[in-house]
Amino acid sequence: LIAKLPHVGTSIFTKMTTLANEEQALNLSQGFPDFETDPKLVQLVSAAMEKGHNQYAPMIGAQSLRETIVNKYKAVYAVDIDPTEELTVTAGGTQGIFTAIATVVSQGDEVIIFEPAYDSYAPTIELFGGKVVPVRLLAPDFQIDWDYVATLINEKTRLVIINNPNNPTGKVLGKEDLNKLGKLLAGTNTLLLSDEVYEHLVFDGVSPQSVLSIPSLRERSFVVASFGKLLHTTGWKIGYCVAPVLLMREFRKIHQFNVFSVNTPMQIAIAEYLKDIAYVESLAGFFAKKRDLLKNGLAQSRFKILPCEGTYFLNLDYSAISQEKEFDFACYLTKHHKIATIPLSAFYKQATDQQVLRVCFAKQDVTLLKAVAILNEI
Ligand code: GLN
Repeated sequence: LIAKLPHVGTSIFTKMTTLANEEQALNLSQGFPDFETDPKLVQLVSAAMEKGHNQYAPMIGAQSLRETIVNKYKAVYAVDIDPTEELTVTAGGTQGIFTAIATVVSQGDEVIIFEPAYDSYAPTIELFGGKVVPVRLLAPDFQIDWDYVATLINEKTRLVIINNPNNPTGKVLGKEDLNKLGKLLAGTNTLLLSDEVYEHLVFDGVSPQSVLSIPSLRERSFVVASFGKLLHTTGWKIGYCVAPVLLMREFRKIHQFNVFSVNTPMQIAIAEYLKDIAYVESLAGFFAKKRDLLKNGLAQSRFKILPCEGTYFLNLDYSAISQEKEFDFACYLTKHHKIATIPLSAFYKQATDQQVLRVCFAKQDVTLLKAVAILNEI
């Protein structure tokens, strides 16, 4: 039997969604909207198909979509990206992350990740022979001690991975943190992978951050982002990766034999839809309202609500209710109270038990109100 990832099972997102479906529970576990995307966007997809955009897109992505992406970076950060050399459209954020790791990580390389970390990072690093070096951050503030991170960097450190805004903590690394990271990596051979799929979901006056706007980081970074979170289309699986020319050339060597190219009509439709940058700017307000609906609705509950500056996840501390382990408590809530969440421990290599559950608020208001009613009874 060949088992390249013997310690890896089915992802927590699939597990909890399956349980939620079996139990007919409200599913606030896996991060995806339960509302539809804009019908105008769907029409643009059919229009693209009718116009004959049904064959292979260029390997690097449809030209119009690459131009739209470049314009967005120009408008939001005043950053210039070369659409021909520095950008590739991917089949979702996770594929961009996988390919970036595959591009640079070899046997024996060390990769620093910050936990709680998205579940795809560690197995992908290990698949290519890398060694995961986790930096464990704890609730409620998940603060990074950059001096400690500095002690972990050595000549084997190939890559550092950050996720900003962070899934699952909802934390946003600001300019100060990013500048510290920039100083730390200056003069080393360590590269950076910045997973920015929740880039535009930032609240309370926090502005979007990209390492592309920090020159010392940009020169060593792969930036991955995704349209699933931006357009409420997680099922379309379209994202992209930006990197300096030499890194992007290597990335594409792998990309061309992995997915080759990403589905054409949706790329054309997204390019057209996002010509209006105002849509991107409206997204933060849209999700802030949903966060507040959940947060305010739970103010009198027995859950303690952790801070949330970005993403579409809110974390709830249930230590005043139960001392049960997170996974057991999440299963109990799904079975007995008909609401599914994600245990925070799933994002740590060595499970923690902080009595914290992650709840997705990318849901219709009616779903959030149902969740509030259930959680207030617990
Ligand atoms: N990004 C989603 C989440 O955090 C999950 C995606 C997946 O199921 N792989 O819930």
